[in-house]
Amino acid sequence: MSVRTRVAPSPTGDPHVGTAYVALFNRVFARSQGGQFILRVEDTDRQRSSSASEAAIMDALRWVGLDWDEGPDIGGTFGPYRQSERLGIYRDHADELVASGGAFYCFCSKERLDELRRRQQANRETPRYDGHCRNLDPGESRDRVLAGETHVVRLDVPASGTCGFSDGIRGAIEIPWQQVDMQILVKSDGFPTYHLAAVVDDHLMAITHILRGEEWLSSMPKHRLIYDRFGWSVPAHYHLPLLRNADGSKVSKRRNPTGLNYYRRIGYLPEALRNYLALMGWSMPDEREIFDTEEMTAAFDIDRLTTGGPVFDLAKLDWLNGQCIRSLSPDEFMDRVADWAINRENLAAVAPLVQQRTERLVDLLPQVDYLLGDRPVLDASDFTALRLDADDCVRVLDHVGRRLDEQDEWDRDALQGAIRSLADAVGLPMRDFLAPLFVAVTGRKVALPLFDSMAYLGRDMVRARLHSALSALGGVSKKAAKHLERAYADLEVDQA
Ligand code: GLU
Repeated sequence: MSVRTRVAPSPTGDPHVGTAYVALFNRVFARSQGGQFILRVEDTDRQRSSSASEAAIMDALRWVGLDWDEGPDIGGTFGPYRQSERLGIYRDHADELVASGGAFYCFCSKERLDELRRRQQANRETPRYDGHCRNLDPGESRDRVLAGETHVVRLDVPASGTCGFSDGIRGAIEIPWQQVDMQILVKSDGFPTYHLAAVVDDHLMAITHILRGEEWLSSMPKHRLIYDRFGWSVPAHYHLPLLRNADGSKVSKRRNPTGLNYYRRIGYLPEALRNYLALMGWSMPDEREIFDTEEMTAAFDIDRLTTGGPVFDLAKLDWLNGQCIRSLSPDEFMDRVADWAINRENLAAVAPLVQQRTERLVDLLPQVDYLLGDRPVLDASDFTALRLDADDCVRVLDHVGRRLDEQDEWDRDALQGAIRSLADAVGLPMRDFLAPLFVAVTGRKVALPLFDSMAYLGRDMVRARLHSALSALGGVSKKAAKHLERAYADLEVDQA
């Protein structure tokens, strides 16, 4: 049987470095076995999924050099590869599970579920569905569904005992059924949840090995139940260790750049990033640190996957990237520089801004260097001359970061509108509000217009700059972050 692996991103945001990490191992393993590597788009969250995010993820994965053998853009014999195009398949499977007693229709109202959760929390119990609708007469439930009553489909979970399963990296694992919720499999909008869709697709797409992030380990009992109830064999699972910050916490966009586009814009080479990500979860048999993906594929042994929480360490990545850059021939080096930023396409985005401000071509360089460079080096004194004090600067930068994370459209006018409505909601004059943002984004007193600069830089680069500026201002403690989060949630920002 041919080995088939997959990466299954949800298109709900910017391309994430964790997606490349998981894709790398799936692709290398499949290639090492002469198998296929599949890209599946898990867009079952209707509110949060977008085709722009899907396109950006595919583009970024291709840039890292992790292309696929089957996927929504190139097709394949097991398609469609976009979950929103497979709704009928999930519905049929959910009905089959209900008919065989493996799942049930649930009509509980939000009020009842809220009340249940409140009660369980008050009794210090883990919030969990109590099985209320599981005891309904199946014929009656079916009639209510046929009559159009709002419902979800839930997985029936054993009341006692333990679920045993095996993970390729961690060995045998047991989780008591008591800890497993009666998971919703089909939501009231008719869309499946991840759990049903992923298991059904992994089976129908003949996936033999699932290498995915450790955060899914606790979902294994639910998945196990679904496989068993359909009578399907369970693919081999390997839960890869999560990428971590130096203090052991999971990498997050508020602490480290996590967007692939950041790495691309800064000028990391895809092969260096692949080498680096490989070291996060694996080691060469000879413990060599520098290797290319072909060498990794040739030497790949799935039993050498590591469990340790790998620390995402930018200094190490810089070192590897430097090694890669210095090993290029001068011709290759020039090609890479042109691919990176010094090319017509990139100039086209800034030309209209700088042409009118240029007397001699040499004037161009100091005008654009901050757009091409990494985060400006700032310290607290860069903010002292502003009208806002340090606490207000922190508040502005924090809230802008939160607002921009919600911003889909990323052009000058949309950004300006978003920031203006935020400044109004905070109750500060636009001029004062923009001053710390200007320093954070440009690192200068004078620069090209702020919103054009932000549009050019893109979300990942802007986020990294906001984060650096916040660090320069003394950083944000966990407690302060909670406070800021609440303050932001309480704002009434005009979304128009
Ligand atoms: N859509 C899930 C994610 O975004 C995929 C998890 C899996 O690989 O099963 O992480």
